[in-house]
Amino acid sequence: MTDPTPSKHVTHWIGGKPFDGGSDRRGDIYEPATGRVAGTVDFASEAEVDAAVAAAKAAFPAWRDASLSKRARVLFRFRELLTAHRDEIARLISSEHGKVVSDAAGEVARGLEVVEFACGIPHLLKGGFSENVSTRVDAYSILQPLGVVAGITPFNFPAMVPMWMFPVAIACGNTFVLKPSEKDPSASVRIAELWAEAGLPDGVFNVVHGDKAAVDGLLHHPDVKAVSFVGSTPIARYIYETAARNGKRVQALGGAKNHMVVLPDADLDLAADAAVSAGFGSAGERCMAISVVVAVEPVADELLAKVRERVAKLRIGPGDDPASDMGPLVTGQHRDKVASYLDSGVAQGATLAIDGRGTPVTGGGGDGFWLGPSVLDHVTPDMDAYKDEIFGPVLSVVRTGSYEEAMELISANPYGNGTAIFTNDGGAARRFQNEVEVGMVGINVPIPVPMAYYSFGGWKDSLFGDSHAHGMEGVHFYTRTKAVTARWLDPSHGGVNLGFPTNG
Ligand code: NAD
Repeated sequence: MTDPTPSKHVTHWIGGKPFDGGSDRRGDIYEPATGRVAGTVDFASEAEVDAAVAAAKAAFPAWRDASLSKRARVLFRFRELLTAHRDEIARLISSEHGKVVSDAAGEVARGLEVVEFACGIPHLLKGGFSENVSTRVDAYSILQPLGVVAGITPFNFPAMVPMWMFPVAIACGNTFVLKPSEKDPSASVRIAELWAEAGLPDGVFNVVHGDKAAVDGLLHHPDVKAVSFVGSTPIARYIYETAARNGKRVQALGGAKNHMVVLPDADLDLAADAAVSAGFGSAGERCMAISVVVAVEPVADELLAKVRERVAKLRIGPGDDPASDMGPLVTGQHRDKVASYLDSGVAQGATLAIDGRGTPVTGGGGDGFWLGPSVLDHVTPDMDAYKDEIFGPVLSVVRTGSYEEAMELISANPYGNGTAIFTNDGGAARRFQNEVEVGMVGINVPIPVPMAYYSFGGWKDSLFGDSHAHGMEGVHFYTRTKAVTARWLDPSHGGVNLGFPTNG
């Protein structure tokens, strides 16, 4: 029997239009809820990466000189179009990623907030001005764009993570080449079409698809001035080192192992709601997912009982079924790797408190990439389930005897993306916020993703580089500062002076 659903073919977007891949390398795009191959995506060759960078380079001089109000107007129109097409993009994401449509709509909304932040670019790009730094001499600073900048993004937020980057980069006057994840590439092309509809000049926003070859093409290209990356830590380290070696400005956000500390005085219903939501939302495939609950005794048994009650009510099913709480994982290979931590955890001494391998699935196909919410209890730091970023619906519970022990655990962990503390003690929360070596901290909030006007980024092995994403750090990353000292002719000018300039 032939497959009734036509197979899609996703290709690049260069110079304001689709650009069919001439290379014979392609990747499969899966539909995670059924396990079927829904289409293919072109993988860019070096020549195609060159074409995208050339289009971006050609568009740069005019876009750099476009007035701030013109840039802001394009951004406002883009915002309106994204808002109008939010559900359509969410469905596209859900079909390729697997997450439920409401969650995908949430990621588009968080990306939209960065677009809204970037709409304020006339204000954000204001430099400083000092009158009379010397007699009748003024000094001022200008923030100028870098040129062609590139973004390389992960599968887990195919709309939001690129939108941490390009709205700010483009608003600042740069032109952009996006290399999205090859696992769910369609949202980026739809977004490129919306940019064109919004009136963005051709070549300002380009998309090339592919794997390591496309990424390396960007990292080595002399016309790419800066690289923003979000993905796993080993690749983030590679991107940082390679881009920096090639003289580029680089920010590379890596993986995570986010701990949620529950103190004995915490509201355990709130904590259990948070652990389940942040552990199993988007099937745990979030860089800000909670993957370790650190229960400061004596709360572990009671907390776990409350987690069980909540997990039992979760409905697992296809992302486009409004009744589903949690969808499938992104690929079969990833599902198998995530599930393998349940076996290794038990072999290394953990207790399997909830085994998601048998969780019933409502709808979808038997070949979908399913794994239900799972909990490993009595996890210790030497176990693989603790050491590795699992990136799936597996929550580990580590039991500790004190706040200090919990803090030692977090301090010793190589990652430092997000963390949270649950407590009713303001003093303990304040101490935690002060001491913890993690970039984003939640107090009775499990997924503390900063708003667009703050910046997003972790510490330690969760970020290589100096700048976090969006907010003012984003504006600074995508601009360089020029300081000007000016004297206009006046009656007192003239005279040679070989001394070093000083104020006078
Ligand atoms: P990944 O590192 O496998 O891929 C990220 C990007 O790098 C993709 O575009 C991919 O095509 C490219 N890539 C993969 N292998 C490469 C290689 N060898 N050389 C060059 N490029 C390569 O990550 P993923 O599986 O798509 O996404 C999940 C990871 O992203 C998790 O580790 C998660 O924590 C992390 N993440 C981090 C943040 C953050 O803000 N810190 C946000 C989202 C996701």
